Amino acid sequence: APVIGVLALQGDVREHVTALTAAGARAHTVRRPAELDAVDGLVIPGGESTTISKLVDIFELRGPIDKRIADGMPVYGSCAGMIMLATEVLDGRPDQRGFDGIAMTVRRNAFGRQIDSFEAPVEITGIPGGPLHAVFIRAPWVERVGEGVEVLGTVTTGPASGRIVAVRQHNLLATSFHPELTGDPRLHAYFVDLTRAAR
Ligand code: GLN
Repeated sequence: APVIGVLALQGDVREHVTALTAAGARAHTVRRPAELDAVDGLVIPGGESTTISKLVDIFELRGPIDKRIADGMPVYGSCAGMIMLATEVLDGRPDQRGFDGIAMTVRRNAFGRQIDSFEAPVEITGIPGGPLHAVFIRAPWVERVGEGVEVLGTVTTGPASGRIVAVRQHNLLATSFHPELTGDPRLHAYFVDLTRAAR
């Protein structure tokens, strides 16, 4: 089974470890460069992207993670993790910085106060078995994608209809929502398969 790390600086780390294990991976937490060296893929959890950005520098993980991404390591970012994988962030803090990740512009806290948190069915390209039950918590959306970025899912109901919430660029995957909170292993299984294929 592939070894998948969960960046364990801040956010809902344990839920991803559980979901990855259920999806057939060996899941490890990652806080140090040596722990990063030992994984085949990495999950960046939801939490607070400004905090994760700061801690990435304090824990001296920015260079090592950018290097692994350049070498083709699969990375999945959920919510704040999606923001950390975006090459451009709108409504971010001026000092927050992401990785050299997916060629996309994301807007932080995009869904607004009225619909701060909500749930919606989202069909994901490449994941059979019907729509995922997507949970959004102060979530970003993807406002623009660059060349080579595949849109995997959009919201199809309600005021946010049409908004992009799942994307992939080669081995990098990102969702606005939190599949680790629903008990549905399909998104994590998709990422485990991607990591297995990349090994
Ligand atoms: N609003 C958070 C941020 O900007 C993301 C929220 C989440 O990860 N649930 O990082």
